[in-house]
Amino acid sequence: MGKILVTGGTGYIGSHTVVELIKNGYDPVIVDNLCNSKIEVLNRLETICGVRPKFYQISVQDKEAMRQVFEENEIDAIIHFAGLKSVGESVLYPEKYYSNNVGSSKVLLELMDEYRVHNIVFSSSATVYGVPERMPIVESDPIGNCSSPYGDTKYQIELLLMDYAKTHEDANVAILRYFNPIGAHPSGLIGEYPTGIPNNLMPYITQVAVGTLECLTVFGGDYDTRDGSCIRDYIHVCDLAEGHVYALHKLETKPGLVIYNLGTGRGTTVLELVHAFEEANNMKINYKVGARRDGDVPENYANCDKAYKEMGWKATRTIKDACRDSWNWQSKNPHGYDK
Ligand code: NAD
Ligand code: UDP
Repeated sequence: MGKILVTGGTGYIGSHTVVELIKNGYDPVIVDNLCNSKIEVLNRLETICGVRPKFYQISVQDKEAMRQVFEENEIDAIIHFAGLKSVGESVLYPEKYYSNNVGSSKVLLELMDEYRVHNIVFSSSATVYGVPERMPIVESDPIGNCSSPYGDTKYQIELLLMDYAKTHEDANVAILRYFNPIGAHPSGLIGEYPTGIPNNLMPYITQVAVGTLECLTVFGGDYDTRDGSCIRDYIHVCDLAEGHVYALHKLETKPGLVIYNLGTGRGTTVLELVHAFEEANNMKINYKVGARRDGDVPENYANCDKAYKEMGWKATRTIKDACRDSWNWQSKNPHGYDK
């Protein structure tokens, strides 16, 4: 496999994966409509990798435009990151989420048929497990009953891919269920910079650290956990990016359908993450403990043994590495990719 179509490749996880792909000798072709990323990412990728990846600014939903990408490039595999990911926005505009997320996945599968592309890696999420019955979560645990339309779209796409794999003998599909990505490339050239006030914990912390936001609210201090705050499985985005290269290697063995949790296998509380950030960067974060946020589960962390056993992949970076790299990115780019 050489040429990899990376949808959503200028986004947070996509851009880090493009770096890994180039490092491992792959030739990524990025498709992104820039609805949640900046063109500047391409300059940064060129600085890191020494080559500028091929780029198409189009929506994956636009089948005609996508057809041209398949005509012009002999695609060996697709990594499908493109999608909308705001849980709150998905509650307000479910139809937008279904048409963008599910719609673009359908277009890709149709084009895979048409152009005889057999391999696809899909960005799913721990959110497909809904309210998990036990910890840590294994891949065979029940999915569905998601807590938002965003989660429902991931679940629907998984079902679609499972049915696709059943009916296409030569299809190889890797569904990767990500836990909580944080951190940034150690160069500080690429990272996460959400538009507006961040919903996610790490960008909120870094924006408090840089002075854009005043105070972090820890959502809930009365959960039945070791310090009362919620537990999540935070994974360094570079570990996650490497997981995609392992998934491509796995697809080369023609496994049919495979599903893996990508996390660290370790749970960290919100307060532990705040304190790790303070220690790693020798600074204080202004925070207060507030009310619980609707829809949050007390704990959520992965069992990642399957990814290790079947692909040889495991996360190697620490929470401290991620805190240091998140701050390195944020402090060098206080306004993200904008000057
Ligand atoms: P991101 O928003 O940074 O990247 C997604 C990219 O897709 C953006 O660059 C956006 O412009 C692009 N995009 C959206 N719709 C498109 C379309 N129709 N056509 C072309 N491009 C389109 O998000 P991310 O954090 O890098 O997430 C990547 C994927 O991983 C998403 O599918 C997301 O749902 C999934 N995921 C993310 C997390 C997380 O916490 N970041 C967790 C689990 C799963
Ligand atoms: N969180 C918080 N304050 C914030 C944002 C998030 O306390 O400003 C908590 C949230 O309640 C959850 C954890 O941080 O327990 C991770 O939240 P995030 O939204 O980053 O990811 P989720 O696990 O919800 O997908």
